[in-house]
Amino acid sequence: MKLLLVEDEEDLAQGVVLGLEAVGFQVTHVTTGRAGLDVLLHETFALVILDLMLPDLTGLEICRQLRRDPSYQNLPVLMLTARGETYDRVVGFEAGADDYLVKPFAMRELELRIRALLRRPNLRTETSVQQEDAIEFGSLVLDLPGHRVLVDDQELACTALEFKLLVTLLERRGRVQSREVLLDDVWGTETFVSDRTVDTHIKRLREKLGSAGSYIETVRGVGYRFRSQETP
Ligand code: CA
Repeated sequence: MKLLLVEDEEDLAQGVVLGLEAVGFQVTHVTTGRAGLDVLLHETFALVILDLMLPDLTGLEICRQLRRDPSYQNLPVLMLTARGETYDRVVGFEAGADDYLVKPFAMRELELRIRALLRRPNLRTETSVQQEDAIEFGSLVLDLPGHRVLVDDQELACTALEFKLLVTLLERRGRVQSREVLLDDVWGTETFVSDRTVDTHIKRLREKLGSAGSYIETVRGVGYRFRSQETP
C-alpha cells in the first residue's frame, strides 16, 4: 500500500520511511507542500501523512486544497505537529485532516493510527455535494465516487490527473477545450507546466483508453474536444 509523506525534517522523515517500510508500506517522501500536491496528481496513494509546518505551505492549507478537489475527498490525511506548535483540532478537522499525532511519537503509534484510518469507511462521500454517480458514453463509463474508468467493463489504471482530465473533457463534450483552459482547470493555475504537458497526457490517456481513445479528438491549432456523439 502506497503512502505519501510530506515532511521537511529529514531525520524524522527517514525514520518514518524506514519504520513504515519495515511493516509493509511503500512510502514516497517529499519535503515541500508543492511537491506533495504535484506528486498526488501523478500517483495514487492510500493515505497522506502531512507535516503541519512546511517551508512553503502549511499542512492545513494543503489539506484544504485537497478537500476542494473531488478526487481527494476521501483520501485519509494524518497530520503531524511538533510539540509546542499550537494545533487546533477543530480547525484541523474543518480543514479536512482525519487525525493528528504530536512529535515525537512511537513508530508503533503511527502505524496503528494509519491502519485505523485505512480501515475507516469513506466519511466524506455522504456529506459531499451530490454528484452524478457515473457518466456513460459509448463503451466508456466513469464511476465518479469510485474514481474508476471502465472501457467495455474493463477497469483501467488511471492517475488522479488523467481521471480529472477525462472527466473535464467528457463533461464538456462537443466543445473544444484549448490547452490553456485545460491547464487551468485540470492542472490548476499554481502548477508550472507547459502546453506540451497537455499533449503528452492526452496521448497517454488515449493509449490507455484503447478503443475509446478516439472519443477524444484533436482540433488542430486549438486544442481537444470530446466527441458529442459516439460515432463521428
Ligand atoms: Ca516541519
